[in-house]
Amino acid sequence: MAHPSDPNCIFCKIIAGKIPCYKIHEDENVVAFLDIGPLTRGHALVIPKGHYANLLEAPPEVVGKVAAEIPAIARAVLAAVGARAFNLLANSGAEAQQSVEHLHFHILPRLSGGSFTIPWLPGKLEAGEGAALAETVRKNLHA
Ligand code: AMP
Ligand code: ZN
Repeated sequence: MAHPSDPNCIFCKIIAGKIPCYKIHEDENVVAFLDIGPLTRGHALVIPKGHYANLLEAPPEVVGKVAAEIPAIARAVLAAVGARAFNLLANSGAEAQQSVEHLHFHILPRLSGGSFTIPWLPGKLEAGEGAALAETVRKNLHA
């Protein structure tokens, strides 16, 4: 079946071979390539061939096919850069710093002592708020 495509999308252009990339994987449904602006060495992107804006828009089976390829791709990327750890990131929406509106997962290899860090400043989930919020989300899920 043909994948939906957007002629103005930079990742659709990469998939169509209209602009170059450092490709690391391609199959019927999924492409992976090195990020042109790496946050860490080996920073790679895994995308579906179909054009869907992000995780909120893509059908579950498309997400599943992309997700299924991530472990093998990540292992190969990590081996290439000598890392044992990585972060998986899917920016979804403008406020989450998504700049390319074609679903993609970032594979970010992490080396001990590397300069890249993710600020992680946990707050505290109060019991009352936790219960109310969880109930609202459960209702939304089953609405
Ligand atoms: P995001 O902010 O999650 O939408 O990430 C988009 C990513 O796409 C950024 O990390 C960019 O460096 C990367 N990117 C944009 N254009 C290209 C390109 N032509 N080839 C490879 N990576 C790209
Ligand atoms: Zn696209």
